[in-house]
Amino acid sequence: MVSPSLWLGVSDWYAEACLPGARATGTRSLESNGESTYAAVMRPANVQPIGSELAIKWDDGSESFVALEKLRRACPCAGCQGEVDVLGHLHKGPDLPLAPTAFEWRSFSLVGGYGLQPTWRDGHASGIFSFDYLKKLADAQ
Ligand SMILES: [Zn+2]
Repeated sequence: MVSPSLWLGVSDWYAEACLPGARATGTRSLESNGESTYAAVMRPANVQPIGSELAIKWDDGSESFVALEKLRRACPCAGCQGEVDVLGHLHKGPDLPLAPTAFEWRSFSLVGGYGLQPTWRDGHASGIFSFDYLKKLADAQ
């Protein structure tokens, strides 16, 4: 029969050995430090077009607005931004005038937990905007 006091001693040792800082109140444990680093990568909690802008509500409660036209023109896909070949030459298609539907938001999907892939009303859907890129676009206007 193990006495209650010995059990207490073992669990104290366990807590100290496995959860450094976890028992100390008022100090940050290693785990909460990890969480704050994770939270630095913001993710959209809600994304919806409002008028001619895309409204993004981030998971930290802040909001960003990016004009849809600006967003479409900043489409990072190879078709829109061109591709650089092995010799460093940029191959870019002719700048075709975009139809008004090119700036109309149809839907989007989330890609791999790091980005957002919009589908535009003209059918274009190959650009993947990382959350970081979206934030930069919003902050730049
Ligand atoms: Zn594109």
